[in-house]
Order: sequence, then structure tokens, then C-alpha cells
Amino acid sequence: MRPELPVSPGDVEAARARIQGVAIRTPLVPAAELSERTGAQVSLKLEGVQPTGSFKVRGAASKIRSLQAEAAVRGVVTASTGNHGRAVGHVARSLGVPATVCVSEHVPPGKVRALRGLGCDVVVGGRSQSDGLAAADDLVSTRGMMLVHPFDDREVIAGQGTIGLEIAEQQPEVSTVVVPVSGGGLISGVSVAVKAACPRARVVGVCMDRGAVMAASLKRGHPVELHEEPTLADSLQGGIGTDNRFTLAIARALVDGVVLVTEEQIWKGMRFVLDHYRVVLEGGGAVGVAALLSGRLAGSGHVVVVASGANAEAAQIAALARGDATPPTSPA
Ligand SMILES: *Cc1c(COP(=O)(O)O)cnc(C)c1O
Repeated sequence: MRPELPVSPGDVEAARARIQGVAIRTPLVPAAELSERTGAQVSLKLEGVQPTGSFKVRGAASKIRSLQAEAAVRGVVTASTGNHGRAVGHVARSLGVPATVCVSEHVPPGKVRALRGLGCDVVVGGRSQSDGLAAADDLVSTRGMMLVHPFDDREVIAGQGTIGLEIAEQQPEVSTVVVPVSGGGLISGVSVAVKAACPRARVVGVCMDRGAVMAASLKRGHPVELHEEPTLADSLQGGIGTDNRFTLAIARALVDGVVLVTEEQIWKGMRFVLDHYRVVLEGGGAVGVAALLSGRLAGSGHVVVVASGANAEAAQIAALARGDATPPTSPA
């Protein structure tokens, strides 16, 4: 018997109603070449076509719609490596709520520009996502803003979990769901939904080997902190929080494993999806493809890969289009 988890399948169903009209139901597309390479029947869940280019709009909509009356008055605040902040900005603007985003100095300039373009107040400072979160907490206590946490929040987790509901409907035979992992909001929500609908399906996380905080935390059984290094998967940077409340517990209970991929494998994954499907994925969105292509993750049966985001930097997209064997050096 499983102990009661902080987010239930019913919570995810409720989130589905809240995100209606803000996030879309994304396509699940068969990936023939990837299937040939791996011997599994692989399909890609294309979250990059969401408004703002990543799945983060699901969690943001679920959270902001759950607190709309209060948030509308005081405004919302968050910390983000980019995609979450952008999603919060988009959802807040569409609901007429003021939004402030605290980001670290490592966030690529294109992502900061995009946030300001969405009408967000952007506060740049600190070295890591933890520093950004501290700045956001500060605005919560000094100005009474409402925090929209990037992952460790029950409504955010339930919102991300709506991907799992869609996967279970689009591919009821699914045997493995492959999910990029950073703070773990995405994989916790997806696991809750998928394991309820398809109890025999495995849920496997993928993370870059440069700072695999969730993998290390699962191994130790408590949140660990790791030094942040530059990576192609910048949207997966950041810790799980030393005071992690929800995502580690859910991941411990439901996630079947986490595999790690190298920078080279991530770049190959990005090149593969552009070459074969004319799909742009950012590094963090391509780690699942990278894990399968490299053989770090063996697939069989129906494998669904969550391609979580499309927000690659323009220089990366140009290099991919040229077929460059190595990524451009990062602007950071
Ligand atoms: C945020 C993000 C992730 C990881 O989500 P967590 O809930 O933090 O684990 C994966 N891919 C992309 C593109 C993201 O923006």
C-alpha cells in the first residue's frame, strides 16, 4: 500500500479544468526514425507548441487560476531559469494579474528579453536558482505578493500532471514515459496521472550529468545541493530546494529510475529531432531523446518521450540548421 501522496489523480483532473483555454492539449506524434534506432515504438509529446514554448504554462495556469482573486490584487512573483517565469508572465498577463520574476545571472539573455516583452518585472541577481527563490520569498514577505513556485507546489504539480492524463488517453498502451527532470514538478505530476491510469507503465526521469540534483537526492533519500555548471540543458539547472516538500516524496514513491546524459548526447538529440522531424527542442527538452539515442535508456513497447520545451537560443538553432557537430559556446 502506498502512503497518501500530496497530489492525487483527482487533483490532476481538477487542474485540467483550470488550465482550459490557457494551455493546449499537445500532439503525441510517432517518431519513426527514433523507433528504428531503439527497437521500441517511440512517440514524442510535443510540449514545445504550448504558448511560451514549454509545458510550464500548465502549472502556471493551474496555480494562478487557483488563487486568482488574491493574486489579482497583490500580483504574483516567481523565480525561474526562464521557461517557468515566461509561463507565469504569459498566464498572468492573460488574466490581468501583475507578475514579477527573479532570475539568476546564468539565464540566457534571450530568455530575459522574452520575459520583459511579456510585461513582467524582471529582477536579475544571484548565481543560482536558489538565490532567485530567496529574492522571490523576500518580495512575498515585504510586498505580500503571491509566490508561484516553479515546481514544489501542489497546484503546479497537478497542472504539469495534465500531460500524463493526455498521454494515457493518446497512448493507452504506453509502457514507458520518459520525462526531463529538474526540480521534479513535471515528473511528479506526470507520474501521479500516468500510474493511476496505466498502473503497469514505467516513468523514467532524465537529467544532464552536470548537476543531476534530483538523481542524487533520490539516491541519498534527502535533498542534496550540487554546484551549478553551464549546460545545454539550462532549463534543467537548479536544485530541488533543501526544504523540498512535495516533489522528492512523490518521485521516491512513483518514479522508476533516473538516467543521466552528457552534453554531447544532448546536442545529438537536438540535431536528431531537427534533422528528422524539423522540430526544434531546447537542451532540456531533448534529454529524453538523447537518453534513447545514446542507449543510456533502453526502450521496449510503446515509449512516450516528453519533449518538454522548444526555447533554444537563436545561435543554437542556427548551428543545428548548419549541422554543426558541436554546440556554439554559451553566451554566459
Ligand atoms: C522546467 C523544465 C523542465 C523540468 O521541470 P521540473 O518540474 O523542474 O522538473 C524540463 N524541461 C523544460 C523545457 C523545462 O522548462
